[in-house]
Amino acid sequence: MSKILIIEDELAIAELEKDYLELSGFDVEVETSGDVGLTKALEEDYNLIILDLMLPNVDGFEICKRIREVKNIPIIMVSAKKDDIDKIRGLGLGADDYMTKPFSPSELVARVKAHLARYERLIGLGIKENETIEIRGLKIDKTARRVFLNGEEKIFTTKEFDLLTFLAENPNRVFTKEELFREIWDMESVGDIATVTVHIKKIREKIEYDTSKPQYIETIWGVGYRFKV
Ligand code: CA
Repeated sequence: MSKILIIEDELAIAELEKDYLELSGFDVEVETSGDVGLTKALEEDYNLIILDLMLPNVDGFEICKRIREVKNIPIIMVSAKKDDIDKIRGLGLGADDYMTKPFSPSELVARVKAHLARYERLIGLGIKENETIEIRGLKIDKTARRVFLNGEEKIFTTKEFDLLTFLAENPNRVFTKEELFREIWDMESVGDIATVTVHIKKIREKIEYDTSKPQYIETIWGVGYRFKV
């Protein structure tokens, strides 16, 4: 799951952004002061940063510059003033995108997704070895999008593969069907959460030795599913 840091001193705005991003399945942290935000951005591993320009202690200009010196992650800068946006664009601080407040939260989510996808593609080009997840005889080759059980390939559809991979990448965590649906199928897409149940059933038929006693994907009654490690 992608981790996002919002550095924004207007808490109401930060909370709104956080809510929308969390609904799209992102893991989001908020920091309201510039200096603490900068420290966290430098010390912790975030996939993307949403950075307000005017902040107490250290402003967004400085934070963007300092992050860029050491990290290659997308930075989206936001400001209440359109003039400021024009100015920071001109400075070439290395931000990936600029948004003028107020903006629609769904527009922000769309841009976050686009930038994360772009960075993943760029980073992906540099990867030599296939990225795999291996758990007790189950091997998920993320790069080739193939699944093997004890060396034998199992054929997965796109959504089955995405669902299995998402669960395996977030082991020992319980996800509700709603959360899984939102994560794997777009929020906008038409469908209902029964789709999740159907896909879990199909995945189990492919990877479980005994589907009535699943050893990979457990059902947590009344809550959802958990990938057991
Ligand atoms: Ca501000």
